[in-house]
Order: sequence, then C-alpha cells, then structure tokens
Amino acid sequence: MDLSPTRQAGLARLEEFVPRAGRAYTAERNLDRGPTDRTNVSGLSPWVRHRLVTESDVVESVLQQHSLDAASKFVQEVFWRTYWKGWLELRPSVWTRYSATVEPVFVGLSDAERTNFDAAVSGNTGIDGFDDWARELVSTGYLHNHARMWFASIWIFTLRLPWQLGADFFMRHLLDGDPASNTLSWRWVAGLQTVGKTYLATTQNIEAATGGRFRPHGLATQAFAVEDDAPMPVPLAAPHPESLPSGRVALMLHEDDLHAEAFAQSLEASGAQVVAVAAPRVGEPRSTLSPTSALVGAFTVGALNDGLDRAREHFAAEASVLEGIRASDVLPWLQSHDVTALVTPYAPVGPVRDRLDRLTVDLAGEGMTLARMSRTWDSRAWPHATRGFFPFRERIPALVR
Ligand SMILES: Cc1cc2nc3c(=O)[nH]c(=O)nc-3n(C[C@H](O)[C@H](O)[C@H](O)COP(=O)(O)OP(=O)(O)OC[C@H]3O[C@@H](n4cnc5c(N)ncnc54)[C@H](O)[C@@H]3O)c2cc1C
Repeated sequence: MDLSPTRQAGLARLEEFVPRAGRAYTAERNLDRGPTDRTNVSGLSPWVRHRLVTESDVVESVLQQHSLDAASKFVQEVFWRTYWKGWLELRPSVWTRYSATVEPVFVGLSDAERTNFDAAVSGNTGIDGFDDWARELVSTGYLHNHARMWFASIWIFTLRLPWQLGADFFMRHLLDGDPASNTLSWRWVAGLQTVGKTYLATTQNIEAATGGRFRPHGLATQAFAVEDDAPMPVPLAAPHPESLPSGRVALMLHEDDLHAEAFAQSLEASGAQVVAVAAPRVGEPRSTLSPTSALVGAFTVGALNDGLDRAREHFAAEASVLEGIRASDVLPWLQSHDVTALVTPYAPVGPVRDRLDRLTVDLAGEGMTLARMSRTWDSRAWPHATRGFFPFRERIPALVR
C-alpha cells in the first residue's frame, strides 16, 4: 500500500477501493482484522484530512460505480467528517475550551493517574487489545474506527483517565488527526456530545469484531457520562463565503486544504491573477503538551510539498516555502511580489484557523487583505449541522445532487 502524502497516491488508493465501497463495505466495515488487512475500509482518511483528495472526489468516484443506495453507508461515513466539521464550525468554543484544558488537566493528574497515563500511552496496561492499539497507533499513525472507539472507552471508563488527554494522544499520532472528528468523537464516547449517551466497549464486542484476536478482561461494566463544566453552546450562524479579490494576488496553502487547483475557476471569475504561491515548511503543532509524532510531521510536510508543487504548476506562479504562517513569515514574501491581496483556502476550526485569524488582523494593520476561499461542499453542508447527525443525514441525497 502506497502511503505517500501525495494527491496521486490518494487517488490511486481511492480507485483501488471504489469497487468495495458498496454492499461489501456495509457488510464488513465494522470488522477490525488488524494492520495487515485493511481491505474492508478505505484507509483514505490521511489524504482526505489534508484535502489532498477531497470529499467530493471520493463521493463522485464512488457514485460512478455504485448507486447512492448501494453505497449509502460509505457515503454517510464521508459525511460524518463533514458533519463534525460543520458542528464545530458552529460551536468554536468547544475547540477553544478543549485546547485550553489539555495542559492543565495533564498537570493536575494524581500520581496514580500519571502511572495509568504512562502505561496507557506506552501500551503497558496489561489490557489485551488496548496495549496493541496504543502501539499500532504510534507505529502506523492509523487505527480502525472501532479500535478508536474501544480505545477511547477503555481510556475513559476503565482506566479513568481524562478524555482530553486521550484526544491529545490521538491528535499527536494519527495521520488523519483532525480537530473536529477527533475532539467530537472523544466527546461522543465520553457522553458529552449526545448528552448522557456514552459508548461502552465490551469484551464480547471486541472479541467478535476482531475475529477473536483480542479478549480483554476487567473492562468497566458501566459508563457514566463525564460531566461537562460548561453548557452546550448555542450554534452560531455558518460562515458566509467571502468575495474574492481581483488583480495580482498571492496564494498561500496550508495543511487543511491542499487541492488549491480546485479554486482556479472562482479566482478567474473574480479577476484574480495568482502570481505567487507558498506553503509553510511544516504543519502547525497539534498539541500544547508534546510535539506531533515524527510520522505525522513527515506526512504533513510531504503533503504541503505536494500541494505546493501542484499549485506552482497549475498557476504557473513562483513558489516559496515559508517558515510559518505568522505575519513576520508572510509579509516579506507578499511585499516581494507586489500583490494587492493574499488568498488562502478556508481553514475550519483548529490550529491553522487560529493562526489565520491572527494573520488576518496583523495583515490588516499593514493594509493587506486576506481572503479565504470556501468550498461549495462545506458552505452547502455546514449550515445543516445545527442538531444531531440523523437530521443532517436526511440532507445527504440533496447535498450529493
Ligand atoms: C475516538 C475517535 C477519534 C477519531 N479521530 C479521528 C480523527 O482525528 N480524524 C479522522 O479523520 N477521523 C477520526 N475518527 C473517525 C474515524 O475513525 C476515521 O475517520 C476512520 O476510521 C478513518 O479510516 P478510513 O479512512 O479507513 O475510514 P472508512 O471507513 O473507509 O471511511 C471513509 C471516510 O469517511 C470518513 N469517516 C469515516 N468514519 C468517520 C467518523 N466516525 N467520523 C468522521 N469521519 C469519518 C473519513 O474521511 C474516512 O476516510 C475518530 C473516531 C473515533 C471513535
């Protein structure tokens, strides 16, 4: 399996998976056969997370070979990602609060909790399966969806560790580590997302879905919802797509959306001429606690390079690698190209977005505008993420059309 962080490798994986995206996926997707056999799921999430391959690329390819009815389960899973992103977009304080609590929660661990934490992240708890998933996560950057659910459930209800530290561990090690899907899935297991509804991992379920590879003993038999210290926020309005500038513009890529060629038409329609393209040298830190894993770091760097290479070729523009996306990194580059504005793909709630918000203010102080280019996929779907997934799901056929 080619794990290269390029659009080409992602599209090749998509093409190879598409024949299995119909009824075979529906029947077998819940089985975790282990790292040597992932043929029952797509494994596409690292590419989709960086939008090396977009959600619309995936759904379009699948619907060329299957009816929406036959591939409904797979298409729904792709829309879970869209839903989580939309949900967080409408409630950004959930992300702000999570990121602000990781460090204090870690510092506040008791000695016994710290021992449990160290054992959990190094795969030394003695819990069958759990230790294997901890090691698999660190060594491969991937876990099957059910292993993620079991791991999170055991972390919270059996080991009695704070969910925020588990979410942080995942963010640092998952190639697809995503602020919305990760934070909200951990909250869902903990009973914070659908208030009062928790996810309890059981020995029987793990044994059945892993084909008997694991049979953990001593798991919690009850899962009481974790108490939230803040009320569920009222959803904000979904962001409106911004109007794009005209004239000479610079295009800055970032790790949250690396298929900038897709914006060429809208840029042309607004009369913008892309004269320079750039991307940061590395990804944004994913944690306030510890550095992102080397595996994740390398995948992100490769993805940024691939996005930049394609953008340079597509826009026939000069390409630069920036030290980061702070004003002090970006301004000298903009000034050297005599542009009227900077354009960048819209970044959903998360570390990149936090940086872009600061950059917008800093550039405005220098008389430069930063315009964010939205995708129709997001701007059509996100306004519907006001309630649970099930009402959102009803919209999928219309959204796909
Ligand atoms: C505790 C926990 C943490 C998670 N953290 C992340 C994360 O950081 N990043 C991430 O991308 N996913 C996360 N997920 C969701 C899901 O586990 C992964 O998206 C999925 O396992 C990726 O593997 P795949 O590409 O083979 O999925 P497939 O089964 O092949 O699904 C196809 C695509 O649909 C999307 N998808 C599938 N299931 C989900 C889901 N439950 N939520 C959101 N999108 C989904 C992904 O883009 C995936 O590539 C998490 C789930 C849990 C329970």
